[in-house]
Amino acid sequence: MKAMVLNQISSLRQNKRPLEAVQLPVPVPDANQVLIQVSACGVCHTELDEIEGRMPPPQLPVILGHQAVGRVVENGRGAERFRVGERVGVAWIYSACGQCRRCQSGDENLCEEFRATGRDANGGYAEYMTVLEDFAHQIPDQLTDAQAAPLLCAGAIGYRSLHLTGIQDGFLLGLTGFGASAHLVLKMVRYKYPKSRVFVFARSKMERDFALELGACWAGSTETAAPEKLDCIIDTTPAWKPVIEALNNLKSGGRLVINAIRKEEADKKSLLSLEYAAHLWMEKEIKSVANVTRRDVREFLQLAAGISLQPEIQEFALEDANRALAELKDRKIRGAKVLKIAD
Ligand SMILES: [Zn+2]
Ligand SMILES: [Zn+2]
Repeated sequence: MKAMVLNQISSLRQNKRPLEAVQLPVPVPDANQVLIQVSACGVCHTELDEIEGRMPPPQLPVILGHQAVGRVVENGRGAERFRVGERVGVAWIYSACGQCRRCQSGDENLCEEFRATGRDANGGYAEYMTVLEDFAHQIPDQLTDAQAAPLLCAGAIGYRSLHLTGIQDGFLLGLTGFGASAHLVLKMVRYKYPKSRVFVFARSKMERDFALELGACWAGSTETAAPEKLDCIIDTTPAWKPVIEALNNLKSGGRLVINAIRKEEADKKSLLSLEYAAHLWMEKEIKSVANVTRRDVREFLQLAAGISLQPEIQEFALEDANRALAELKDRKIRGAKVLKIAD
């Protein structure tokens, strides 16, 4: 099979082609696993963190990609949840132990044995992949393969982030950074919380214009103060300055949710401008989002199908994965990038 493989950690500024196109044997499903012929795989900012070593995969080479959609082509021993030909998706959660206190209480995203797709096991930047059947998700009929792919991470983690803000209808929500996840949150909010207005902070004009097109009530650069103080903000940027700016834009009792798996080091010094009175006092809160649960993924897929949520996507061939990643690094973003691997 064709696959795009990460062999070594490097900086994308120096190495524009971090993934290598290779031919590999089709994997064989283990017990309770399904073999999936991948048709589409979303490209996520987390891949940049893996490639550049902020969150290196424990073993190399590895096939990245954790928003894979395809069809079951073979059931391993004991696997019986899906028929051959059925359409499934694989998200960031590749497996969790199922036994620990976290798993038992529904917080499998925090399991100490959490394994991530495309980091701890081969993912969807390939023609085939395997996963435990219990960690594959049925894809609702309303969604095409390429539309469903970005819902598996950008959408599901956006859904989790939004839930963690504690939003209620009418709350003023800020989104700092406007990539794949934030654009889906905006669409979700307009449906689920119609009285809420959304304020978008984004570095590039392209992202700001796109946000207004999708119904944000205001869009400004990351450094600008919002015209009103906000109840909650979701930060999806890789930087630190937006964290300070966001805290400044919060009302008393407001909450900032950081939806980023890693932050970059470049502007870490801006944290020194943190002022307790302006940024933290008055019971402001900061919370991070870590991973997703299977429940997040399944609830979100159902919601997306129910409200005909259509992500804005840009398609790339599997061989062009390096170009898609370079554009993501340069923040040439309009919606979600998806590798189209088969029809
Ligand atoms: Zn992701
Ligand atoms: Zn566990």
